[in-house]
Amino acid sequence: MQKISWQRAVLKIGSALVAPDGEGCSGEYVLNIARFITECRKQGKEIVLVSSGSVAAGRAHIKVTHQPTIAEKQAMAAIGQSQMMANWARFFDFPCAQILLTSGDLRDRTRYVNIKNTLRELLAYQALPIVNENDSVAVNELKVGDNDNLAAYTALVSQADTLIICSDIDGLYTADPRKHKDAKLIPQVDEIDEEIHALAGGAGSKVGTGGMRTKLQAAEKCTSSGIQTLIVNGHNSDVFEQLLRGDCPGTLFTAKATAKGARASWLQHALQSAGDIHVDEGAKNALLSRGASLLPSGVTDVAGNFNTGDAVTIKYNGTAIAKGLSLYCADDLQLIKGKHSDKITDTLGFTLGEAVIHRDDLILL
Ligand code: GLU
Repeated sequence: MQKISWQRAVLKIGSALVAPDGEGCSGEYVLNIARFITECRKQGKEIVLVSSGSVAAGRAHIKVTHQPTIAEKQAMAAIGQSQMMANWARFFDFPCAQILLTSGDLRDRTRYVNIKNTLRELLAYQALPIVNENDSVAVNELKVGDNDNLAAYTALVSQADTLIICSDIDGLYTADPRKHKDAKLIPQVDEIDEEIHALAGGAGSKVGTGGMRTKLQAAEKCTSSGIQTLIVNGHNSDVFEQLLRGDCPGTLFTAKATAKGARASWLQHALQSAGDIHVDEGAKNALLSRGASLLPSGVTDVAGNFNTGDAVTIKYNGTAIAKGLSLYCADDLQLIKGKHSDKITDTLGFTLGEAVIHRDDLILL
């Protein structure tokens, strides 16, 4: 079995685990998963849950004999979402935090930054973020559409190092195990190539082997950003014991680079700098030798017209020393530069946080 280690994981749980008979929530599988989450947290690890099941949970309350319309499914989701949250909450003695997203939220830079910051605070305050698609507001073209890909985006936005997809199948097989008795589990995939895609029923097919197509898409998104991805069987309680021991009892898709490395190269190379932030000597030293966040008090000048979430270059004496994502837009930063973080709210009427650039969003050049 492959050995794994991780610190922050997104755990994706499918509807079949939350509402196994599609008629309301059940504790049958959720209990083991909740125990796993609690144990991981005791080990000092961080978990963000992506839970499906709102439609399946709400189906019990909107009884239709026909194939439900989109609006009926959205109504089911609206009823089922709170029931699903309550179903999770009863197994934990720490707070569960609901985050509902649409693809529009993830594409909008300001909202993306807000989501990232909210997740960061929730983890800092030991809450369990539980993410789902905002099914009752989004229709097809506004949706991510499936929770495997939503979980991949969540792993990216929460800066996780691992994505664990809990499925009803043990992992990726050499053929569909429900049809071929000699199908073998593939324990490790280092390259998601055409051959691997073909195992999921081909990249273009509508229904892959056990919904494998969207799982591979999620694995592809994550591994190329340095996030290792696991597909395991969430029906099997032994799986969670093995995961706790650091084994991967399913298929491990290895990360192409370290998450930090991938993020640093994305920040450094892929993102155009939209402006400059000039800093004083104290801020320069704090950034270079203490790995600190950039605070407004150390900012001496601002150049360019950047927005919240844009990449900016940090300069000292005209020399670029770092690059990062600015939490404040250029106009707001002009107003708070040189000030103590305590004064942000007095000056702007609101605060987005005490740092202009959080150290997680910063690389030294
Ligand atoms: N968001 C949907 C739900 O909660 C599930 C989508 C999926 O599982 O891919 O019912």
